[in-house]
Amino acid sequence: MRDDRQNADPLEIAARRARAFLASLPGRPIAPAADAPALRARLATALPDGPSAPAAVIAELAEALEPGLLASAAPRFFGWVIGGTLPAAIAADWLTSAWDQNGAAYALSPAAAVAEEVAGAWLKEIFGLPAEASFALVSGCQMAHVTALAAARHHLLAARGIDVERTGLHEAPRFRILLAETRHESLLRAIRLLGFGLDSITLLRCSEAGSLEPAALAEALAEDGRPSILCLQAGELNTGAFDPFIPAIALARAAGAWVHVDGAFGLWAAASGRFRPLLAGVEGADSWACDGHKWLNLPQDCGFAFTAHPASHRAAFAQTTGYALLAEDTRRALDWNPEWSRRARAFVVLAALRSLGRRGLAGLVEQSCTACARLATGIAALPGAALVAAPIINQALVRFRDPAGRDDDARTEAVAAVVREEGEAWFGTALWRGRRVMRISVVNWRTDLVQAERAVAAVARALARLDRGAAREPG
Ligand SMILES: *Cc1c(COP(=O)(O)O)cnc(C)c1O
Repeated sequence: MRDDRQNADPLEIAARRARAFLASLPGRPIAPAADAPALRARLATALPDGPSAPAAVIAELAEALEPGLLASAAPRFFGWVIGGTLPAAIAADWLTSAWDQNGAAYALSPAAAVAEEVAGAWLKEIFGLPAEASFALVSGCQMAHVTALAAARHHLLAARGIDVERTGLHEAPRFRILLAETRHESLLRAIRLLGFGLDSITLLRCSEAGSLEPAALAEALAEDGRPSILCLQAGELNTGAFDPFIPAIALARAAGAWVHVDGAFGLWAAASGRFRPLLAGVEGADSWACDGHKWLNLPQDCGFAFTAHPASHRAAFAQTTGYALLAEDTRRALDWNPEWSRRARAFVVLAALRSLGRRGLAGLVEQSCTACARLATGIAALPGAALVAAPIINQALVRFRDPAGRDDDARTEAVAAVVREEGEAWFGTALWRGRRVMRISVVNWRTDLVQAERAVAAVARALARLDRGAAREPG
């Protein structure tokens, strides 16, 4: 065996292991088998002095790592908002690594540059964004926020005669940044990184479902002379709620504010005729952020930023480099991204969109929403369970009553923990309006009604197990 590995092809070994892992996903326990000490015992060997045969390295490394994998790509994984990976996207990702193209410029990879042009155009078409919007393929929605808000920073300050790329924020007035109280934390980090500071944030009251109330917005947007950014949500993390884009954007326009939309997963609702009305008016914003690695089911490390102001976007990122070769560049990929060298992210985007087509993409979105609805009603019908937020799209919240009448938060936490421990399904919990809830997020192409039923049964078993445990320990 060892000798085999000396001469074997590491790619063959990787392909074999990858196939076995993917085939195991529908059946394997979702929770990892190994904890940190067990993984350290396997991995924290002395740094090797000399080389090893690549095939042996891959076989041994995979052996050591696999027990520590969370099967988040499995069809009954409902934690956070994490998709699986479409078969075509995995294969394209392998080729992306093998081809090792640097996505920074046309001269470095005409294939990557043109694929990126096409990906940008297709994504704008799917999301219903203006055809002339600028875009960047970044690592995820976090960096999409940074990219879009850097464009906003340039735009709002240039209008006040300030060249922020030259002077920084030293000569700038304080910004006013309006966020929903339910905003995703990644926006806060973008605000910190761009120098606005967390003190520039005003949190806005939301409805029970987690969307902005136009009345609160009108009050907060009252003109005060400061450069202002309003962040709206297309798909709130817990409930999937959509902000009322038409009135919110009209109010922001009147106040001269830049409107940014966090549509990490919710922007994909545009792919389905059934859900597209939730996004009515979203195209009127100034910038949009979305993820490829959530609902499109790309491998991790792909997000999209778009802006309606290409000149401001470019001004925030353009490099006046002396590289003569870059002069040939059509789009100058380097000018729209925060990174210099980067992965050719468009290959997986094109692979996923070609493999799904418009109908497949709509089908994926609708199947996820249908499965989420089944999970929500199925779980809510179990003893002691209650629906806290019915799905608007693919997200829902449930909660469990403590039969002893003591602590529903602890009961909810315990139910999720027992489900995870059994391994058949995986749910996380969150704090929603001061109460502990179990969150259901469905964004995986493998999750259908059959998988939803199996997960409901897993929750029923967890409840029964908790009650048997309680019966055994009276008091
Ligand atoms: C996941 C998520 C983000 C952050 O996206 P990353 O791709 O993890 O950087 C931002 N906003 C919302 C609503 C999200 O669900």
